[in-house]
Amino acid sequence: MRVAISIGLFFLALGRYCWPQPLAAVANIAVRSNEVTIQLSSSTTYAVQRVRYPDQLLITLDNCTISPRLSLPRASASWFTGVQADVMQGAVRLRFALTPGSRPEVFGATPARTLTITPGRGERVYGSAPPPSLPAPPPAQASPPPRESDRQAPPVTQPSSRPPSGAPSVTEIHYRVADDGSGQLQVGLTAPVRPNVFFLATDPRRPRLVVDLPGAVISPPESSLTPQSNDLVSRIRTGMPGGVARIVLDVAGKVRYKVETQLNPCQVLVNVSPPTAALEQPDAHMEPAPEPEAPSASSPVRPASLPNRLEDVTIVVDPGHGGKAAGARGPSGLLEKDVNLDIARRLRDVLQAEGVRALLSRDSDVDVPLRSRPSVCSQVQPAIFVSIHCNSNPARRLRGTETYYHLRDPVCRSLAWAIEQAVCAAAGTVNRGVRSDGIRFRSGFAVLDEASVPAVLVEVAYINNPEDEALLASPEFRQRVAVGIANGLRAYVEAPSAAAN
Ligand SMILES: [Zn+2]
Repeated sequence: MRVAISIGLFFLALGRYCWPQPLAAVANIAVRSNEVTIQLSSSTTYAVQRVRYPDQLLITLDNCTISPRLSLPRASASWFTGVQADVMQGAVRLRFALTPGSRPEVFGATPARTLTITPGRGERVYGSAPPPSLPAPPPAQASPPPRESDRQAPPVTQPSSRPPSGAPSVTEIHYRVADDGSGQLQVGLTAPVRPNVFFLATDPRRPRLVVDLPGAVISPPESSLTPQSNDLVSRIRTGMPGGVARIVLDVAGKVRYKVETQLNPCQVLVNVSPPTAALEQPDAHMEPAPEPEAPSASSPVRPASLPNRLEDVTIVVDPGHGGKAAGARGPSGLLEKDVNLDIARRLRDVLQAEGVRALLSRDSDVDVPLRSRPSVCSQVQPAIFVSIHCNSNPARRLRGTETYYHLRDPVCRSLAWAIEQAVCAAAGTVNRGVRSDGIRFRSGFAVLDEASVPAVLVEVAYINNPEDEALLASPEFRQRVAVGIANGLRAYVEAPSAAAN
């Protein structure tokens, strides 16, 4: 899910108590030049969410209704095919049916009176906030009286720490992710501050990047926002420990960072990039992997849109690593990238021989950026994405097959289960079960996160275990693995299904 979320979690709590909350109404939704503008009768808070199966962009407008004069646009744009509005109790949810693979972005203040949705501008905004001095928006003339629930709202309170006059205060915090995976923290200030940025790894399992802003004030002092699906930064928190304004980024490892300060407007920028070692090395476990999950229900969970003949689905096969990114290496020198590519080609050939359309994300010894590997899926839907890797663990005794699915996605978990069983049956490997990629990275594997279709990552065997390496070196074993994955795909697609969701 990669939708720009321009919500001001940061000052949301403050806003709830300081701004009046008349019932807003959706007055107009206009489509122009591939952009959608949503006009409200008065400002309100909102949440943006992207869901799959089918791909939809959901915008939930709090404390809102729809104007009786509103007509939903019939026009579409490159990124959506239609829009519907659900009026819920005290809220409106706009549902945009997305074109496969599109990544629209939502722009608006918090609270917003106007929201703009664009096809995407190549950067993602995870958090923003209005300056604390933002005046309350005037109540709309035609707004109905507050409902009973509003009258029972908590009494107006002042935030506990008001900025002392003259002290620089933090006006906004954004975190943007560039397409190369690097990120930028942008901190807006009312006056210049000399930041003190340092890496903190007192707890090696929870590395943090700390941005101290001596002399500045963050109000409200404590809040937290979660950048979604970011490999580098999983959470951003603020606080005032010892009276020093502090922003803490929970990071994925020993990230590199560069600090810049700007005047006019006053900003502190912290550029965060992956550690010099590859950030995503799905195969390098540092700890023995946890026990496999219990078997899932016998009938697969599938998207309703998935056909029930494998011949009607395109399989996108992704051989992990490639080029300079060799992946893991076996004790005798076997390279993971070569094994992955050979198994992937065999899988493609097995599928094509069965009349199934199959594509490779790479068909030579080249590296392909993780996030562009699943991109072809959106053009060939219905599709399934299978990434092929070999595992590796400092504990050399580990052997066997693991299949990963994304976070808690029930569809991908069910697909992973079918493939895991079939590979172990065909290739005779140790069945180590299915696992969520969330146990390896808080935001999961980038390739699985990026896929807009059911997607799994198969760790065929442990290349750094001498016996598994010998298997992986064998053409006969690779062929069995390919046949096993194809069998698992067919078992999943053609079995009677349980409903998704
Ligand atoms: Zn790998």
